Amino acid sequence: MTIKTHNLGYPRIGDFRELKFALEAYWKGDKTQAELDAVAAEIRYQNIQTQIAAGIELIPLNDFAYYDQVLNMSTLLGVIPKRFRQENYELDVAFRMARGRAPSDDQACCAGHGHQANPSKAGYAGAMKKWFDTNYHYIVPELYDDTEFAITDTRLFAEVAEALALKGDGQNIDFKPVLVGPVTYLYLAENVGHAIPKLSRLPALLKIYQQILQKLAEQGIHWVQIDEPILGLELSAEWQQAFDFAYAELSQTPVKILLASYFETLGAHLDLVCNLPVAGLHYDGLRGEKQLNALIAQYPADKVLSLGLVDGRNIWKTDLNAALASLQAAKDKFADHLWIAPSCSLLHVPLNLEVEDKLNPELKSYLAFAKQKLAEVKLIADALNGQADQAALQANAKLMADKQQSELIHNAQVQARLAQLANLPLDRAAPYSERARLQKAKFNLPLFPTTTIGSFPQTAEIRQARRQFKNGTLTEAQYIAAMQAEIRDVCERQERIGIDVLVHGEPERNDMVEYFGEQLDGYAFTQFGWVQSYGSRCVKPPIIFGDVSRPQAMTVSWSQYAQSQTDQIMKGMLTGAVTMLQWSFVRNDQPRETTCNQIALALRDEVLDLEVAGIHMIQIDEAALREGLPLKKSDWADYLRWAVNSFRVTTSGVQNDTQIHTHMCYSEFNDIIEAVAAMDADVITIETSKSNMKLLDAFVDFAYPNEIGPGVYDIHSPNIPTVEQMVRLTEKAAQLIPAERLWVNPDCGLKTRGWAETEPALANMVKAAQQLRAQF
Ligand code: GLN
Ligand code: ZN
Repeated sequence: MTIKTHNLGYPRIGDFRELKFALEAYWKGDKTQAELDAVAAEIRYQNIQTQIAAGIELIPLNDFAYYDQVLNMSTLLGVIPKRFRQENYELDVAFRMARGRAPSDDQACCAGHGHQANPSKAGYAGAMKKWFDTNYHYIVPELYDDTEFAITDTRLFAEVAEALALKGDGQNIDFKPVLVGPVTYLYLAENVGHAIPKLSRLPALLKIYQQILQKLAEQGIHWVQIDEPILGLELSAEWQQAFDFAYAELSQTPVKILLASYFETLGAHLDLVCNLPVAGLHYDGLRGEKQLNALIAQYPADKVLSLGLVDGRNIWKTDLNAALASLQAAKDKFADHLWIAPSCSLLHVPLNLEVEDKLNPELKSYLAFAKQKLAEVKLIADALNGQADQAALQANAKLMADKQQSELIHNAQVQARLAQLANLPLDRAAPYSERARLQKAKFNLPLFPTTTIGSFPQTAEIRQARRQFKNGTLTEAQYIAAMQAEIRDVCERQERIGIDVLVHGEPERNDMVEYFGEQLDGYAFTQFGWVQSYGSRCVKPPIIFGDVSRPQAMTVSWSQYAQSQTDQIMKGMLTGAVTMLQWSFVRNDQPRETTCNQIALALRDEVLDLEVAGIHMIQIDEAALREGLPLKKSDWADYLRWAVNSFRVTTSGVQNDTQIHTHMCYSEFNDIIEAVAAMDADVITIETSKSNMKLLDAFVDFAYPNEIGPGVYDIHSPNIPTVEQMVRLTEKAAQLIPAERLWVNPDCGLKTRGWAETEPALANMVKAAQQLRAQF
C-alpha cells in the first residue's frame, strides 16, 4: 500500500469550451439531445483518460454537470419546484430550473455577478448565487412545504456505470462519486415554504442520501466524496449538531465516506470534524494553512487524511519542496492513510496550459492549470512514496528561487512607491459637507440629476471594429476614428434625451477588468484560460503576475475627446482596484492587500490625470467589493479595512470640487455600510429597482451622509420602464433619503441592451426626473 493520489473534481467545459457550444446549440434547437449527450460523454471520457494518464488513482465522478453540480443534487433528490415538475423527469427539466421556462431574456449581463430570480414570470428560473467565494454560480435549491425528497434524476448512476465500464483489469484506478453533502445542501437551499424549518427536513433528506449511497455501493463503488464546504463558515450550534446527526446516519451505509472541506480552515469546528464517524477527511492545506498542523495532530491516525497543497483556486505552480515539507508530519503519522489531492475541485482553474502559445515563456514557466496540477499531485505522492523525481524537484526549487528574483515579477519602482504608502493622506482634503457645497456651486445641477452608469449598447459594429483592430484589419487611426464616431453618437443621443451628466459610453472596452488589465504592467491574458461562471457561461480571468504599474494614461484621451463634444459635464469611468483584483487570478507571493494597493496607486495616477485633463466627475466602479468578503465573518474587518483604503488611495488626491462617484451593482449593504461610508465617495450608485428600494434601508439606518443614485430601471431586461414606475421608485427613495442627495440613474451599465429600448427608457427616465423636480 502506498500514499494515494486522488482528485476532487475536474473542469467539465472541455479544453476549448466544447460543452458551452453544445449546450447553446441544443438550447437554440440546432443540436438534438443525443448530440449534446455525445459531447458530454466525450468530455467525461477524456477527463477520465487525462486523470488516468496523470497517475490519479481515485477519480471523481458526478463532477460533470450539464449546468451546475448543485442543480444535479436538486434533480437527484427530487427538489424540483412545482412549476417545473412533470410526469417523467428529463434533462430539459433541469435546464428550465436553471434558465426559466421561456427562453431566458437576459442572463448574460455584466461580468461576474449573480442574478435574482424574477418571480413575476410563470416559469421563472431559480435564483443564482455564488458558490462560496468563487466566481462559480449555482442554482439555489428551493424548498417548499410540499417538497418531498425522492431519487428522481438517475443520471448519477448511469455515469457511474459508464465509468466503471472503463476500468481495465489490473489497473490501479478506481472511481469516487462526488456529492454535495446533505448539510451544505440544506444550508444553501432557500426555504420558500414556511411550515417546515430547514433543519427539520434533515432526517427525510438523509433517507435519500442513504438510498443513493446504498445504490452506489451496489454498483461497486467503495468511496464516495461528500463535500461539506460550509464547514469553513462559522456555524451556529444547531448547524454543527446537524453534522453529528447526518454523519451518524450516513455512516450506516456500506460505502466509505471521504468528507471534503475546502476554501477555509475548520475554525471552531475542528473537534467536531475530527469526531465525525466518516472514513476520511479531505482538507485544503492552502486556504486552511493556519490549522494544518493542528489538524494533522488531532485527526485520528486510523482514518484517511487527504491533504490538498496544490492550489485548485489559482494558476500558480506549486512549490513542491515546500509542500513536501508541510506534508512530512502527516506522512509520519498517517503513512498510507495519507492521500494527496488538489486543495479543492479543479473546476475553478482553466484546463490546460499546454495550449497557450502566446504567453511570455518565463511567465508560462510559473503557471499550472488543471491538467498540470494533476501532475503535481502525482509528483508529490511519488516523492512521499520514496520515488521522488529528483530532477523535477530540483527544477521546481530552482524555478521558485528564480521567481523570487525575477524582473518580470518584481519592479523596484513600484515597491519603492508602495513603501511610501503610509505617508499618503487617505482622507480627501475637506469633509463631505464642505465638498458638497463646493461641488453644488461648481456643477450647478438640478434636483434629481440624471446620469447613467457608464456603458452604452455594445453594438455589432463596435464589437466588429474592436475585433478588426485586434487582428490588424483596422489601423490604430481607423479604430480611434471609429470609436470617436461612437462617442460623438452617444454624446448627441444623451444631449437629445436631456441627461444631465454624460458618459462616453465605454465603446473601447470589451470588459471592465480586461480593458484596464491590458494596459497595466503586471497583467497577462491567456487565449483559452476559461473558467465556468454559470451554466454555459465562462469567464477568462486575467492573471496578475507581477508588480502592477501604469505605463501611460489609460482612459484620458477617450474622456477628453468625449468632453470636447459637449458642454455638459462628462463623467470619467474607471474600474476600482478591488474589482480588478476580484475578477483576476492574483499572485500568491504577496498579500492580496499589497497587490490591491499597487493597482490603486496606478488608478490614482489615472484619476489625477483625468482631473488635469478637465474631467471633474470621476466614477470608480467597485462592483465586486462585497464579493471579496472572506468566508469567515471574523476576517471581514481586516478585508474591509484594506479594500476601503485602496479606494481612498485611488481617490483621495483630487480637489474638493472634483466629484468622485462609485458604482456597486447589486449588493446587500446592511453589514458593510460602515465600510461603504468610509469610502467617502461623493456619490454612490447602486442596483435597487427590482428590490423596490429595499437596499436603501441600510443607508437610512446608518444615516449615510453622501449622495446616492438608487437605480430606477432594471437593465437586465429589454422592458422599457415607464415614467410612472420611475417616479414612484424615486418618490419612495425620497421618503428615505433627502431629495437633495438623490440622483436618478439606471441600475447598471447598458452594454448588453440595444438602442431600441435604451433610448426610450432613458427618455422616460429624464421625464421622470423632470416630473419629480416639479413635485419637490
Ligand atoms: N461602468 C460599468 C458599465 O457601465 C459598470 C459595470 C458594472 O458595474 N458591472 O458597464
Ligand atoms: Zn453594476
